[in-house]
Amino acid sequence: MQDRKVRVRFAPSPTGPLHIGGVRTALYNYLFARQHGGDLIFRIEDTDSGRFVPGAEEYIIESFRWLGIKFDEGVSFGGSHGPYRQSERRDIYKKYVQQLLDNGKAYIAFDTPEELDAKRAEIENFQYDASTRMQMRNSLSMSKEEVDKLIAEGKQYVVRFLIEPGRDVLVDDLIRGEVRINSSILDDKVLYKSADELPTYHLANIVDDHLMEVTHVIRGEEWLPSAPLHVLLYEAFGWADTMPRFAHLPLLLKPIGNGKLSKRDGDKLGFPVFPLEWHDPKTGEISSGYREKGYLPQAVVNFLALLGWNPGNDQELMTLDEMVKLFDLSKCSKNGAKFDYVKAAWFNHQYLIQQPDEAWAPAFDKILKAEGINATTEQEAEVVRMMKLKVIEYVDGQGNKRKRNISFPSDLWPLTRFFFVAPESFDREDKFIRKNWTENTASEMQQFCEVLEGIQDFSVEGMKAVVDPWVETSGLRPWNAWRICLVGAGQGPDMYELAAFLGKEETLKRMRFAIETLK
Ligand code: GLU
Repeated sequence: MQDRKVRVRFAPSPTGPLHIGGVRTALYNYLFARQHGGDLIFRIEDTDSGRFVPGAEEYIIESFRWLGIKFDEGVSFGGSHGPYRQSERRDIYKKYVQQLLDNGKAYIAFDTPEELDAKRAEIENFQYDASTRMQMRNSLSMSKEEVDKLIAEGKQYVVRFLIEPGRDVLVDDLIRGEVRINSSILDDKVLYKSADELPTYHLANIVDDHLMEVTHVIRGEEWLPSAPLHVLLYEAFGWADTMPRFAHLPLLLKPIGNGKLSKRDGDKLGFPVFPLEWHDPKTGEISSGYREKGYLPQAVVNFLALLGWNPGNDQELMTLDEMVKLFDLSKCSKNGAKFDYVKAAWFNHQYLIQQPDEAWAPAFDKILKAEGINATTEQEAEVVRMMKLKVIEYVDGQGNKRKRNISFPSDLWPLTRFFFVAPESFDREDKFIRKNWTENTASEMQQFCEVLEGIQDFSVEGMKAVVDPWVETSGLRPWNAWRICLVGAGQGPDMYELAAFLGKEETLKRMRFAIETLK
């Protein structure tokens, strides 16, 4: 067991879009695999055909591609342990179901749904187990001839796991420690259904983990109740000594109130619970995604990693490679992790302001297009350059260095609109305007207009050469009023840079409009 190569798997059922909790599970598996030089397998658990949703598998693959979480083998990745889609492994499961039947570890049951309902009505808290199974219609209560006859007639049946009561079952969990339960509380779970010739989740999951040589099962806490049954299945197959180690991750909790994080919380508070936007093929409903909301994949990975684990110091910003080094399953919390969507936006802010200028262009381009503004690539690059230096980090009126809280690319528009759209009006209550536009300002700006009009070379240098000496001799301080004319408020980049960007005609037009409106 010790010298086996680490192999872990992420095994979603394609029943809809991948929930953000599932992304965290996959991420922890990824970190664990990388850290141990092991393999990460991508398996599709699609044995419940009734819950299959078209497009879900592609959605999950695309999500991980976007997030940069890479698998070593599995559906769409290839590998030597395939096929990796459970619906393509029917014959394999049949063989193992037969093995359990032959060894007396499982039995065939013919009870119809109506018969089961009748029993539930008759016996309070009915459970199909050692105390009731002999009252039911199965291969334990019936003769072999009868059973063979029913099968020959084509009667539908299920295969149930024979749980021996009164046994102490130990689940040794890497996060939760030793979890013990008594087998008497378990029911004889259905492992296989003849109707669709498919196994249930439990059997397929165990058989595949065994055949795919999985060493660690890292999954959400919601699967902890199934773990004792899984331990018993490994034993029944005679695979106890290669049974994977279990690690059940803490739940993701609602940001406010108690309970599990749900899509409703996201809808109510305005954050996505899915990595990518999801278009429900049945209802047409669209659910928002982190990608479309403007999150960077590194930010999503970073904040998810810290929901249920931390490196034991104050470090919050980490690359995937750093996380691989620091990650420690035994430091994962047993307690649920509150989903902090405000913190998620903070992470995105951190990653956004770190990115190089070029990286802004696509997002910025999209915003301008949406606003119906035609700008050249050079203009966009110029705005990005000015904004990076002066708007995201800027000096406020009191001379304090400040940062704008840009959490999403869409936050850029209110900060850059004035580059493309002239002020339409001025807020006379605005502190900056009240302070900097006084009685004489209109006539001073008029004089300034005339100075600018005379400038042929309207570049930063060209303007400086004329304006600086004029400021010197006139004793006027036009900067703040000029800012009001061009921006409409006390924000924005260096005034020469802005005027050069707008050009002479637009600059003068904005100044005349302000003089007219504010005089
Ligand atoms: N198919 C299960 C799911 O959808 C896998 C659970 C497990 O990892 O064992 O989460």
